[in-house]
Formats: sequence, structure tokens, C-alpha cells
Amino acid sequence: MRTLSIVMPIYNEEALLPELFSRVQRVMDSAEHQFDLRCEWVLVNDGSRDRTLYMLSEFAGQDSRLIVIDLSRNFGHQPAIHAGMEHASGDAIVIMDGDLQDPPELIPELVQSWLDGNRVVVAQRRSRAEHGLKGMLFGLFHAMLARVSDLKMETGSGVFGLLDRRAANDLLQLRERNRFLPGLRTWVGYEQAKVFYDREERAAGKPKQSFTRLLRYGFDAIFSFSLKPLRAIWTLGFIVSFFSFFYALFLILMRILHINVVAGFTTPTVAILLLGGIQLISIGILGEYLGRIYDEVKQRPHYVVNRVIRGGTPTASIETQHSALSTQHSFAD
Ligand code: UDP
Ligand code: MG
Repeated sequence: MRTLSIVMPIYNEEALLPELFSRVQRVMDSAEHQFDLRCEWVLVNDGSRDRTLYMLSEFAGQDSRLIVIDLSRNFGHQPAIHAGMEHASGDAIVIMDGDLQDPPELIPELVQSWLDGNRVVVAQRRSRAEHGLKGMLFGLFHAMLARVSDLKMETGSGVFGLLDRRAANDLLQLRERNRFLPGLRTWVGYEQAKVFYDREERAAGKPKQSFTRLLRYGFDAIFSFSLKPLRAIWTLGFIVSFFSFFYALFLILMRILHINVVAGFTTPTVAILLLGGIQLISIGILGEYLGRIYDEVKQRPHYVVNRVIRGGTPTASIETQHSALSTQHSFAD
């Protein structure tokens, strides 16, 4: 029998967990019937500071399909998804946000498309729930990414989608730390089927990703999928040098011909400010790449697991790193 894994990152979501639990449970029940599958629900607790972990382990006690991966601290949305994928054992993995913005009721459609033979199924937003400035920035970001990305990318989709085992393994092979999942999924390739849905408002609570995190995520997307900013520096340098060369020729000529040799103030000031600005921006862009290279070469793991709680028998099967360590310790004694 085939297994379907559902992976969700969870951070301080106590307010919506009961609704999430009942909706996903209902979907898993019907999917198991409809498709003759076994379901596994991998919930990654990304260092929540509210009652999330407690509630998740309670749920796990009631439903043996749950696996709770408790991370040692808050690592962020993408690392949490990565942790979930690495712990999922299914023949297909559905990845989605745990705030109910990605409706669980769409899962059967994703599964149907997978069973029809698609390795990758992307859930594409027909509309988005964010309005105002945030919605505008999202739109701007996706338009920009589509333009600058070196890889031809379908933008407008988020993490929500399904990967079969092979595509998931291919994606897990990409070890980079600055992860932009929609881009990595495109990189992996294969026929990518699409299923459309309307993005909902989150069921309760506030967005858990701060604005700076989102901004950083956006920069990750652009800098890890495009070398165009670097090439833009080159082009800019070339254009400025080109005009400077002719301007210098012009000045020398003026000097030789003794025309209007009074030293001015405006030209040097403007030149210095302009060039200074361009240089700082260029260094900044280099820095963005350099910082990411530094991040990658350190080769740190993407996350640290505190413990894994397997559903059904919560206390019996709590695998803590702590207990693993203390066993080693007593062995040494
Ligand atoms: N999330 C997480 N770690 C974080 C921030 C968010 O695991 O540091 C989870 C969060 O609980 C939710 C999903 O990632 O299930 C998406 O987060 P959020 O809704 O805050 O992001 P947005 O929808 O604003 O992009
Ligand atoms: Mg959300």
C-alpha cells in the first residue's frame, strides 16, 4: 500500500491547531478511503513558545498517523519544511503551510494528479488573500523574479504542492542553505502539473514570518536563482567608463585648445557622488553573494532536532537526543 506524507511547519499556532487538526484528519480519512493509501502527517514544531508542542503531542497521542518533529529552536519556515521532508517516508509528499492558508481540502486533487502520473504537482494560487501594501509587494516580487531569474520560473506559486518520492529525493539532494522552495522545485524539473486554488486568510493568529524574514526570503530567491545583479554591475561599470572616457577626451581637448579652463565645482562633486553611490551599491550586491557563500561554506546543518514524537504511543516512543546522549553516558560509566 502506498503512503502519502503531509509536511507542515508550525510556529506558535496554538489558536488554529484544533481546526487544523480536525480538517486535516477529515481529509486524511477520506483520502485513505478514496485512494487506498496510508497517510502520515509530519508536523514540524519550529521552536514554538506557546502551547503548540503540548497540543501537537496531545494530538499525536490520539492519532497514530502523526509524527511531530520538535526542533531545538526557531529555525524558520524553509528549514522547518526541509526537516519535515527529511523525516517523511511517503511515496509522495504534500508540502503546505500549517496556517490553513493552503486549504487541506485540496490534497485529494493533488493526490489524484499524482496517481495520474505526475511527479510534481504545484498548487497555484488563483487569488491571494493578502491585500494592500503586502499584496502589492508580493506581486512586485513575483514579477521581478520572473524577469531576473536565470531559470525560467513559473512564479506566483508558494510552497504548496506535491512531490513524488523521486522528485522529493532529487530536491533533498540540493543541499543549499538559502532555500527558496518554489525555485528548487522548478530546478528539479519533470512535468509539473498544476492545480488551482484560492488562497485563504490564515485561520487565526497573526502571520509568523516577520517582514524582514519575508524580505530576506525574497532576496534568497533572487540571489540564489540569478547572476543578473552581478552582470548589472559589470554593465553599469562599462557604461560609466565609456562616457567618462569621452568626457576625459573632451576635457583634455579643451585644455590643449585653452578653451574655458576655469576649474569648476559642480562636475567633480556630481561625479564623486554618482560614482560613490554606484560603488556602494555594487559592493552591497557583491556582499549579498559573499554572505551567502560564507553561509554555505560553513556547512552547518539546516536544523537541529530536539525530539521526535511518533503518534499512537507518545510517551513510549519519544526519541530525545537527550536520552540518546545519556544512554551513551551510562554506557561509558
Ligand atoms: N512558520 C514556521 N517558522 C517560522 C515562521 C513560520 O514554521 O519561523 C510556519 C507558520 O506556522 C505557518 C507557515 O510557516 O504554518 C507560514 O508562515 P506564515 O503564515 O507566518 O507566513 P506567510 O503566510 O505570511 O508567508
Ligand atoms: Mg501564512
